[in-house]
Amino acid sequence: MRATVMYAAGDVRVENVPDASLVEPTDALVRVTHACICGSDLWPYKTMERSDTGRHMGHEAIGMVEDVGADVRTLKPGDLVVMPFAFSDGTCVFCHEGLQTSCVHGGFFGTEDVAGAQADAVRVPQADGTLVVLPVDEDDALMPSLLTLSDVMGTGHHAAVAAHVGPGKTAAVVGDGAVGLCGVIAAKRLGAEQIIILGRHPDRIALAREFGATDVVSERGEEAIERVRDLTDGFGVHSVLECVGLEQSELTAIEIARPGGAVGRVGVPQDETMPASQPAFYDNVSVSGGPAPVRAYIEELLPDILEGQIEPGRVLDRVIGLDEAPDGYRAMNDREAIKVMIEF
Ligand SMILES: [Zn+2]
Repeated sequence: MRATVMYAAGDVRVENVPDASLVEPTDALVRVTHACICGSDLWPYKTMERSDTGRHMGHEAIGMVEDVGADVRTLKPGDLVVMPFAFSDGTCVFCHEGLQTSCVHGGFFGTEDVAGAQADAVRVPQADGTLVVLPVDEDDALMPSLLTLSDVMGTGHHAAVAAHVGPGKTAAVVGDGAVGLCGVIAAKRLGAEQIIILGRHPDRIALAREFGATDVVSERGEEAIERVRDLTDGFGVHSVLECVGLEQSELTAIEIARPGGAVGRVGVPQDETMPASQPAFYDNVSVSGGPAPVRAYIEELLPDILEGQIEPGRVLDRVIGLDEAPDGYRAMNDREAIKVMIEF
């Protein structure tokens, strides 16, 4: 089968690899119909040291179950399923608490242990706990939006939940990538009255406005902080969704939260330390968030997609075939595309 393998920064190849197959009795084998390139795939694309074996990329997918292990109870061949970026058993203490990314038997796709989903097929561990059957056909027009349940829509929602977005509150979204744009959708969906997007790419800003952003701040650093305060009676916002993960964006996120506010972080932090410890302390700003347990949110978000209430699939603004994956990485890295969908 074909798979996307990254060997070093900027070196992505589509290669023939041994077929994915069942290993554990709790596995499912899924033929991928749709996959994505993720903003988080761009970090290794910028920085990865050369590896002889390479890394099998991809953690977002929809596909058709082809085979299941002897212990799988809830899935059968022919089921169309969405795959969260982390696998989880659905039964441990953390899964019961809705934190499937900390599952004691869990893990992540596209790592050394579990191959990625930018491939013709993928082995899904803990299939019963991980996969969710979709009540649509493979060629349904909603497929791009359903695909975002793998990661970006659930991640934007997690940022909003961690930032305590609620009816009548003010919110700001730091970052105009796919997750930030989904964060705008999530903030509106949860009832935020004012939603400020911090970003500067005209096409992304336009989409953010369509998703519900009420204000745009394109400045950076201290100027951005001033602008947000100007828009919020000088105090800052109740809820900040930090969707980037760089020192500057984390600093901005904390500085634009009003006293007693909250920052929900979903941008993968690129530094060991977190900035703005003292402002966060003196303003009683709570900072939480982390890898989004997107599996926990699928049941909640799925009906809104099926009913057309939200259209997160609009962030997928380029569609390619698997063989074009290397150019898909380049296009996202060059910011030609917000997010790339791979159709099989
Ligand atoms: Zn678990």
